[in-house]
Amino acid sequence: MHETAHATGSRMRDGVRIVTDLEVRSSRLGLHGRADVVEFHRDGDAWRPYPVEYKKGRPGKGKDADDIQLCAQALCLEEMLNVAIAEGALFYGEARQRRIVTFDKILRQRTEEIALAVRRMLEAGQTPPPQEVAGCTSCSLHTWCMPQLSDEKASAYVKKLCEGRP
Ligand code: SF4
Repeated sequence: MHETAHATGSRMRDGVRIVTDLEVRSSRLGLHGRADVVEFHRDGDAWRPYPVEYKKGRPGKGKDADDIQLCAQALCLEEMLNVAIAEGALFYGEARQRRIVTFDKILRQRTEEIALAVRRMLEAGQTPPPQEVAGCTSCSLHTWCMPQLSDEKASAYVKKLCEGRP
């Protein structure tokens, strides 16, 4: 499923143009990335973009980051194409379920705040400390991030090693 979303290209389906692996950016927010899928729906003489992000797993609690990622893509597309985008969708592969996300004022504000915070961290050469959440096990960074080793657990582990205990 994810492989399909990542095959670069453009095709028509039922009057909707579907563009995959589209590069998106916002100079205002300092964002740059790739959108899995952007659908373009006919709206009079114009084409209305509608981002769709593919995710493993199922919708549920702790999926705020998915909404924020999708909203960031919408903000990039709005800036690139000078259009307003009211909503997009997340497609969860395991559940084969499409969830509509409305880009309301609160989500937009939160996304912009996070983009700004990330920008500040990048400029300062910092990374945020890992925080183990339900989605960690399906995160592609899990092997490197090791969120199960919180500061407390890591300290206990190092202490044990220093004391020669297994
Ligand atoms: S594994 Fe790390 S990067 Fe991935 S969600 Fe968990 S804390 Fe975040």
